[in-house]
Amino acid sequence: MGDFKVHVLGCASAKPNPVHNPSCTVVDYRSNLFMVDCGEGAQQQFQRMHLKFSRLSHIFLTHLHGDHVLGLPGLTGTLALSNLQETLTIHTTEEGADMLRTIFGYFNRDSTLQVVFDTFNAQKEEVIFENKSLRVRTIPLQHRVPTVGYIFEEKEKPRHIRRDALERYNVPFSQINNLRAGRDYVDQNGILIPNSELTAEPTPSRSYAHIGDTRYMPSLAVKVKGVNLLFHETTYLKENEAEAQQRFHSTAAQAAAIARDAAVGRLLTGHYSSRYRNDRLFLEEARAIFPETILGTEGLTLEI
Ligand SMILES: [Zn+2]
Ligand SMILES: [Zn+2]
Repeated sequence: MGDFKVHVLGCASAKPNPVHNPSCTVVDYRSNLFMVDCGEGAQQQFQRMHLKFSRLSHIFLTHLHGDHVLGLPGLTGTLALSNLQETLTIHTTEEGADMLRTIFGYFNRDSTLQVVFDTFNAQKEEVIFENKSLRVRTIPLQHRVPTVGYIFEEKEKPRHIRRDALERYNVPFSQINNLRAGRDYVDQNGILIPNSELTAEPTPSRSYAHIGDTRYMPSLAVKVKGVNLLFHETTYLKENEAEAQQRFHSTAAQAAAIARDAAVGRLLTGHYSSRYRNDRLFLEEARAIFPETILGTEGLTLEI
């Protein structure tokens, strides 16, 4: 398997059931695990899927509803007992940080685990994390409380060097970094050799968009344009569209419309209301609009 994956740990909405856990997803990028939401049962599912606690150092919360955060006190307790990492960064709003400080104050009092809160304003788009090769951005959503979606995107990669062309034009190796960055080369005689002669297009950057609880927002299609994989909540079926609107959730058909309008690679469903007994209904409804739909379920891993 490749170095950019998404693991599905929980697909239920507010009421968990024997089949589905509440929300939790793990983005697995080059051996780093980035958890998005942490509903009850997340830490058990994490272990069932053979993910390593030692690789988990960032948790991103979409909003402060119980089905997205109630697994956190248990998980942080386990991380503290495991003594594996010194720092865990939780990305949330100021309000989320205040609430969790209080909870952790009770349960993680003697913990050696250092929890760092990285807070953001849920009303505006922000880059909230970046390292050498990956960037995470927020997208404000429309839910009953301040809520964001996340885009995990690789940074632009360097251009590929064409070794044969380097030899032909006698380009010294000291120029390689300039060429990778897209610069032209001027030889000793002052002759300019365009970068396109010496390099090839870089490997395309990959991206994953995580759109958790939200009302249908047609404007989202522009924000998630062309991502390789889009998770978009599908709490309801079309027959309950009015209720979805009223409860600030989406239907499978609406998620599929976003995927189609944004021309994404694939759509992943989830956050199913427990009223429906057959998950295939979400898949069928979405596939009628966007054929490249995958039914999210606990234990599923997708490569980006
Ligand atoms: Zn929810
Ligand atoms: Zn919610």
